[in-house]
Formats: sequence, structure tokens, C-alpha cells
Amino acid sequence: MRKGLLIILSGPSGVGKGTVRRYIMDNFNLEFSYSISMTTRPIREKEVDGVDYYFVSQEEFQRNIDEGNFLEWEEFVGNRYGTPKDKVEELRNKGKNVLLEIEVNGATEVMNKVNDDRVVSIFLMPPNLQALENRIRRRKTESEEVIRSRLEKGKKEMKMSDRYEYVVLNDDVSRASQEIVDIIKARIKRK
Ligand code: 5GP
Repeated sequence: MRKGLLIILSGPSGVGKGTVRRYIMDNFNLEFSYSISMTTRPIREKEVDGVDYYFVSQEEFQRNIDEGNFLEWEEFVGNRYGTPKDKVEELRNKGKNVLLEIEVNGATEVMNKVNDDRVVSIFLMPPNLQALENRIRRRKTESEEVIRSRLEKGKKEMKMSDRYEYVVLNDDVSRASQEIVDIIKARIKRK
């Protein structure tokens, strides 16, 4: 059986990766599983443990690093985030497509590590920096200091968008989602 696609969706914090992913899940006939990451970040009000992330302590995260359980992990603005390895492999080996929503350093590591030709990398780009800032602020989940750090990090990440096969502009959620679905469907068809 052919391995499922590994779809990497990156982009700066606040660009709307989660919104686009949920829009695709709700509005398109495209089968993929979302890989739930592990994080040490405190849970936000609307988040659900085991749905948005597995929220764990520093100790538990470290234990998973030591046991080699991550495909990749990174520190991002003071917190750690990692992709559990076994689940991704298990799903892909069953022919299921898996989507990772991760930041640029982790994405680069995955691109280097997973060297089969069934990896698709997509960078979601905000229309401008103001739009990014507005979105992060509207979320009302982070302190001013964290907002600033996330924006700085986002600017650096945008400069690394050329590492990806595709850059999709998030000027409109339904348009951007359609573009991403088209990219993925074309790739599924490719031998
Ligand atoms: P947030 O705190 O806003 O949920 O996530 C911060 C950043 O970490 C986002 O860019 C998000 O996509 C990224 N991220 C989430 N999970 C992972 C992961 O498992 N690995 C890596 N490298 N980044 C992740």
C-alpha cells in the first residue's frame, strides 16, 4: 500500500493555520488526520486537552525527548512543542494522510528527516504584518511581552518561507483553503 502524505502546514503564529485547517475539515471532501502535538504551553480557555494539544509538564515533555518519542520538537517563545512520532508513522503506513501544523524549525527538521517523496510542505503567509498583529491581539490569550516575541519570531519565519514547496497567501480563509486543498489533491493523484 502507498504511504499516506505527510502534509506540513507552517506559518507565523497568528496567521490562521488552525482556522484554515478547521475550514478544510468542515468544508471539503479531503481525508487527512491531524497530528496532535505535545506542548508545555499553558492551556488557553477554549482549548481541549487531547484535542488541540496534549498539555504536559516540563518533566513529561523531557521524558518523551529522552525516550525518543518525537519526530521533531522545538522551543517556541518559551514553551516546548513536539510531534509524537509513532502515531504519524502508524497512520501513514495505513495509507492515511497526516497533517502537521508546526513552526519553521520543526518543519525544516521534518523535511530533512523524512526523505520519502510523499511530503508536501506549505507555508501560510499573512497579507501583511498588521493583519498578523491584529489576529494575535484579537485572540486575547497572551501578554504584551509574548505578543511582541511572537511577532518578532513571525517576521523571521516569513523570511524562511522559501524552504517550502508552496507559499499560500491567507488573504481570505475560503480562498486560501481552496488553494491548499487543490495542492494536496494534485499531490494525492501524482504517482
Ligand atoms: P501556539 O502556542 O500558538 O499554539 O503554537 C506556537 C507555534 O508552535 C505555532 O507556530 C504552532 O504551529 C507551533 N507548533 C505546534 N505544535 C508544534 C510541534 O509539535 N512542533 C513544532 N515544531 N511546532 C509546533
